[in-house]
Amino acid sequence: MEAMCPRCGAPARKVARFCARCGLRLEHGPDGLLDAGRVPHPHPVPPPPNWRAVRQATDLHYRWESAWGGEPILGTEGLAVVLLNGGYPLRNAEIEVVGYDGDGRERFKVKSLAYELPRGRDVRVEVPSYELPNCVCRELTVTLLSAEFGSEQ
Ligand SMILES: [Zn+2]
Repeated sequence: MEAMCPRCGAPARKVARFCARCGLRLEHGPDGLLDAGRVPHPHPVPPPPNWRAVRQATDLHYRWESAWGGEPILGTEGLAVVLLNGGYPLRNAEIEVVGYDGDGRERFKVKSLAYELPRGRDVRVEVPSYELPNCVCRELTVTLLSAEFGSEQ
């Protein structure tokens, strides 16, 4: 997979700190590789109220709901995390979803993949119920593990 600068489209080495053509600062993930999800957009699309910031990401927000769109209480039902990307288009975004019970204890941790995260659009990521414990979780965090630059649409 080829990394590229989200502003000018120039190829970027995975270890580059700045784009060689336009000078945009490029960020790196925990593995040290260039990570598209951390490059701030100069004009990010603001999220609606009550959306929360995805951890280790820039301009990426989330909310969650049960798989059929009801109350955000997890358990035997499936879970949907909705991601809203206000920054550069992303693809193959790997996220980690962690659920906590009412006492703040971690009850589950699952990884999921969003194949396309276009700028300014929200994308639903389903977590099937068999990946979830039989508990009611009250709190949920989402962390971006890695992402690639997508293309403008
Ligand atoms: Zn550039």
